[in-house]
Amino acid sequence: MSDSSNPKLTISPDRLEKQIADYKPLFTKSEALIEANRCLNCYDAPCISACPTGIDIPAFIKKIATGNILGSAKVIFEANMLGYSTGRVCPVEDLCVGACVYNDLNYSPIQIGRLQRYATEKALEKEVSTGKKLFPRNSKKSEKKVGLIGAGPASLACAAYLALDGVEAVIFEKDGLPGGLNTKAVAPYKFHTEDSINEANWILQHGVELKTGVEIGKDISLEQLIDEYDAV
Ligand code: SF4
Repeated sequence: MSDSSNPKLTISPDRLEKQIADYKPLFTKSEALIEANRCLNCYDAPCISACPTGIDIPAFIKKIATGNILGSAKVIFEANMLGYSTGRVCPVEDLCVGACVYNDLNYSPIQIGRLQRYATEKALEKEVSTGKKLFPRNSKKSEKKVGLIGAGPASLACAAYLALDGVEAVIFEKDGLPGGLNTKAVAPYKFHTEDSINEANWILQHGVELKTGVEIGKDISLEQLIDEYDAV
């Protein structure tokens, strides 16, 4: 696994997007507990089948309801390392929330995205304040090396899982910042660029190497990449 330490990525602190408030702000602790306790913990839960990343939604909600925020965040991240941003940018009304059984009962569906945001945001805050990692870096090194093209959400998540398995994961990004659409193309009432960069920094700290300003086919050829890496 690469031991390179990526410099912490930052953006200008006075961006105009900061003036745009969240459309769905972070739940307070009481709001999260009340909402989590409404979940029926359905057997064969339709919300899971509707989630493209297959997060065990009733399991993470139950952990919020019992005050186990770190456990809840782990359930989310084990299925989806980008669980923080997806909790905020996914069209949940068409996915998990749209599939919640409460819709058929003419009750308000469980606010799954907001609960997901609550668990992941609180867990990441705790990681910063205690220095205790949710997913400690893997000390076992594999001989394998994987190159990933583009630092969008799919590459970031894939690289994080590889790094956690001890595989050297190197991302090549032609722009100056990682995050792809999350960084450049989400409406700021949902998610700020700063949040995307913070999430990317969190991913990189698991042992992922990021090379920015490198365009495949221009700065390095695909053939060279295929030659140098076990998988691309
Ligand atoms: S369908 Fe709704 S009530 Fe059932 S487990 Fe999923 S979120 Fe909870």
